[in-house]
Amino acid sequence: MATLLTNCTVLDGTGAPARPAAALLVEGERIVAVGAASEIQVGAGVDVVDLGGATVVPGLCNLHVHLGLTHPGALSYSDETVPQLTLRMAANARAALEAGVTTLRLLGEAAGADFALREAIGQGKLRGPRIFTAGYAIGCTGGHGWDGGRVLEADGPAEFRRAARSQIKLGADWVKVMLTGGLAGRHEQPDTSQLSPDELRAVIEVAHAWGRRVTAHTGSAEATRQAIEAGLDCVEHGYQLTDSLIALMVERGVWYVPTIVVTRSVEHIASLGVPDWMIARVERMAEAHTRALEAAVAAGVRIAAGTDMLPAEPFEGTVASVAELEHYVRAGMTPLRALQAGTRDAAELLGVGSELGTLEPGKLADLVALDGDPSREIAALRGVRFVMKGGETVRDDARSGAAADRGRAF
Ligand SMILES: [Zn+2]
Repeated sequence: MATLLTNCTVLDGTGAPARPAAALLVEGERIVAVGAASEIQVGAGVDVVDLGGATVVPGLCNLHVHLGLTHPGALSYSDETVPQLTLRMAANARAALEAGVTTLRLLGEAAGADFALREAIGQGKLRGPRIFTAGYAIGCTGGHGWDGGRVLEADGPAEFRRAARSQIKLGADWVKVMLTGGLAGRHEQPDTSQLSPDELRAVIEVAHAWGRRVTAHTGSAEATRQAIEAGLDCVEHGYQLTDSLIALMVERGVWYVPTIVVTRSVEHIASLGVPDWMIARVERMAEAHTRALEAAVAAGVRIAAGTDMLPAEPFEGTVASVAELEHYVRAGMTPLRALQAGTRDAAELLGVGSELGTLEPGKLADLVALDGDPSREIAALRGVRFVMKGGETVRDDARSGAAADRGRAF
């Protein structure tokens, strides 16, 4: 099965300028040609899709997601059964894909539902993004996220080793640790450390020995520095990043996934029915989080996009995955660099840069089409109207009409 996307501009995500009057030929699950429409010849039997002048860009990646997201308070889902959780995750995955997010990294899910979902999507039984997952996150007793049901509690290096191995046994692509408190924990603060050095060393050693990389939920500059010195590969949130820590991240090539949207809106957090202490926490961390992102952008830290909100969650008039990239531009990125943080650079973080992240012959055909040019105006990503994953068209508003509830999260 071959598809020719035509009457479009291609912004391939490599950094090359947008190419107008272009076409893109897909055979099976891969891109086989990208170029001037006049130069791409196709035979009979090719499905020709006229994109009506849209711009084609790589499918978006969101590298900090919990498909089974819960919050303290109204959205705690405390009575949810595993079958209910699994179906909710599948629906959230599908909503993400339809919003243009073709790849997810899950950093804390429960009951093995993420592994089952990854497999079902991979086998084509369900529609959803490509999934990379850490399984359960690993934290200490009472540590960040313990009450959300998506964290394995461990104490001492032996238990941290066992916890990491137990998730790798199930098929974890990454290992996620809870290094410090966060926004959503009653008895903690985002800038205080929760793991002891021997626990941290043990979990990183095990993951690396098995060829997995480790990422950490962290809000403390000192805890992050110690973790990087112990071999940490990636920093989530980074509510507090000092200049010397940023310099260390650049020197070691450590990745940063900001999830900046989580501290952007007190009103949004309040609308989720969370307790007052969590609202106050968001308010308290917002400014430091802004400064951390701005400094990381200015220093050239390797940044990939992640939201810690549902990828298609309605936020600031768009979906969280797009709002996150818009905030990267406000923090100093060019629109092209912000787009790459959600495409090429994210694929590189995942170690699949040769397969995903840009629109080049040989790569998997994960792409979206929209009006406008996001390398000039990042908000153009709000207008996604066509989504293809692995050569399969999963959304085409011109052919099917825009569904009113598309992209809805719940
Ligand atoms: Zn998270």
